[in-house]
Amino acid sequence: MLRFLGKSHSIARVVWNFSNGTPSANGSAMRRAIYPGSFDPVTNGHIDVIERARKLFDEVVVAVAVNDQKQPMFALDERLAMLRKAITIEGVRVAPMTGLLVEFAAAENAHAVIRGLRAISDFEFEFQMALMNRKLDEKIETIFLMPKEEYTYLSSRIVKEIAQLGGNVSAFVPRPVAEALAKKLKR
Ligand code: ADP
Repeated sequence: MLRFLGKSHSIARVVWNFSNGTPSANGSAMRRAIYPGSFDPVTNGHIDVIERARKLFDEVVVAVAVNDQKQPMFALDERLAMLRKAITIEGVRVAPMTGLLVEFAAAENAHAVIRGLRAISDFEFEFQMALMNRKLDEKIETIFLMPKEEYTYLSSRIVKEIAQLGGNVSAFVPRPVAEALAKKLKR
């Protein structure tokens, strides 16, 4: 088993497609990237990556995995709603992703896949996935973006742990997420 959208995701999920862009208004190909993840929940680190990706691409599709092998704290609808409330910049779309990423990306005419890289600990897995995907389809480009330093220690998992132990997570997540965590944990 290989982790892609979670430690126990099957190899089928690591494959994605790289296809031509749809024409934009000025006739040039629209550059679109997919940013896949669990986003359980979205953190300020994710938002930072989305903003950086948006500077490079005309459109960023934040693809929220319907994650059947992880036990998410938040249901898909909740994760989508939090992302939509938290993302205020134009040119970013939030969409659920069922099935294979390759099919999702092809249907979206995506140019690339964005992944966030926080530390060496992320590198080994991400490197393996990128090379595997290149092997499966050499046209695929994986783009790694590093967040602001202050977000490099942030993960959805650690935010959930802090919240579950009664800590204040408002510095780490967008306000709608802090509110949703408080509601979920009834604080
Ligand atoms: P996954 O289940 O794929 O790990 P996540 O929602 O945890 O989904 O993460 C999605 C992507 O965002 C991954 O590439 C992950 O490395 C990246 N990411 C998560 N947290 C941060 C952060 N604080 N800074 C930068 N990238 C991050």
